[in-house]
Amino acid sequence: MTVSEPTSRAPRPRGSSLAGKAYWAMVRRVTLIAGAIDVGYIVLFAGLGASTLAWINGVSVLLYAAAYALIGRKKNTLALLLIWFEVMAHAALGSLLIGWDSGFHYFLLLFVPAIVVANSRGLAPAIVLGLLAYYLGLKAVCDAVGPLTPLSPAGLRTVFWVHVCLVFAMSASIAAFYRRAILSAERRLVEQAQTDGLTGLCNRLGFQTQAALTLARQPDAGGSAAVLLGDVDHFKQVNDRYGHAAGDQVLIHVARILQSHARQGDVLARWGGEEFLLLMPGCSPEQAEQAAERIRQAVVASRVAVDELELPLSLSLGVACLGPGESLQSAISRADAALYDSKRAGRNRVSRAWPAALPA
Ligand code: GH3
Ligand code: MG
Ligand code: MG
Repeated sequence: MTVSEPTSRAPRPRGSSLAGKAYWAMVRRVTLIAGAIDVGYIVLFAGLGASTLAWINGVSVLLYAAAYALIGRKKNTLALLLIWFEVMAHAALGSLLIGWDSGFHYFLLLFVPAIVVANSRGLAPAIVLGLLAYYLGLKAVCDAVGPLTPLSPAGLRTVFWVHVCLVFAMSASIAAFYRRAILSAERRLVEQAQTDGLTGLCNRLGFQTQAALTLARQPDAGGSAAVLLGDVDHFKQVNDRYGHAAGDQVLIHVARILQSHARQGDVLARWGGEEFLLLMPGCSPEQAEQAAERIRQAVVASRVAVDELELPLSLSLGVACLGPGESLQSAISRADAALYDSKRAGRNRVSRAWPAALPA
């Protein structure tokens, strides 16, 4: 049997904010903004008497409008080619007509982060080098031929500062987009790492994280928080008789029952295979035991439909109340011991394990 090696060139997961819908939505917004900026340029260049540049900006507006429409029709590659063509040609024509000092070339630099982030086929270094060659070539040509239709010094200064301001604003907004994308990917990953894929409940890591937050918000938790550990009885028989998928269905079913009994602020997790753990802050020993009993009864009263059969289920539970100064881990261990008592005593029951300091 061969096992496929993970590769560093693995395609990005679908929906990644750096390559998926959010990315193209951002590019589409950029075409809109760039088109609007070019309308402003038509006015600026017409005012400065640079009518050729005004016409070129008119064409740019049309190109951005076409790119906007193409992204709307999911013709993303074509739209990207148009945008590339527009920026490369615009930077070249602008620099040749009114000179390198106009700062038209700065817009080429905006491509560098976009190339590196969006390129998934390992071509980014080659494309960046190609862009650099274009940039240096343009500089050399501009130096050689000089501005073909020079502006007045004041006009050139105006254009230069407009370009600088725009490039600063656009760099900042591109960086803000990448920051948002990274933060949202990070949030998604943390959430996935803390969630049980089958039941959607917290997994162990999620429980530990949430429980620590919950108990930190409630510093007097000792004596007023309880943990409840439940284990499905004879669960292996469900797997053995009806298959693993039926077993999974049972786990989801029990998870829903526990969820429906958890209160706001409780932390519920799938603790292991068919074991569930519930942290109930602000809960007296009596309330915890009553809650466990309600859950046990709800599971017994429920049925899971498998292969046109209705499977009976039961749950054994162990309940422990957090003693003053006691760690959560120690309370969970005592709940585990109580659960073991329930199993030994015949299953489908609730056992409790209070610390010696609390009334039994
Ligand atoms: P007891 O009443 O003593 O708890 O007996 P049990 O059969 O419930 O417990 P046992 O520990 O013998 O078996 C637990 C089984 O749970 C064994 C394991 O294959 C199964 N299991 C663990 N995780 C999953 C899962 O995600 N899906 C399914 N279908 N089964 C699982
Ligand atoms: Mg079990
Ligand atoms: Mg078990």
